[in-house]
Amino acid sequence: MSTLKPCPFCGGTKICTEKSINLNYCDNCSAESNIEHWNTRPIEDALNARIAELEGLVDKLIEIGDKLVFPDGMFDDEQSIIERNWRILTKAIKERKKPRPQLPPVMGSGDALGW
Ligand SMILES: [Zn+2]
Repeated sequence: MSTLKPCPFCGGTKICTEKSINLNYCDNCSAESNIEHWNTRPIEDALNARIAELEGLVDKLIEIGDKLVFPDGMFDDEQSIIERNWRILTKAIKERKKPRPQLPPVMGSGDALGW
């Protein structure tokens, strides 16, 4: 049996199981679900995937920012700095063109959680 996730409503970690009636419930807030659905979190999973994607994007933006040149008196002229930065940014934008993942539809908290 897999480990039960914390309560999706209060974050409580004391999850009780009543196998005779196929029920898990939170000892803190009494949220309940069928045993097989307790760990089902499609929206949470989609959001975590999106967060991971955005964290990757932040890392990429930092990487791009590190490549940009800023005037500090050591470079030839402003025009060459602008042109170099423009090439770096347009290349990054072209690489970024990909579809965003879609979140699952929200039909109501019970439906969305598979309850
Ligand atoms: Zn709870």
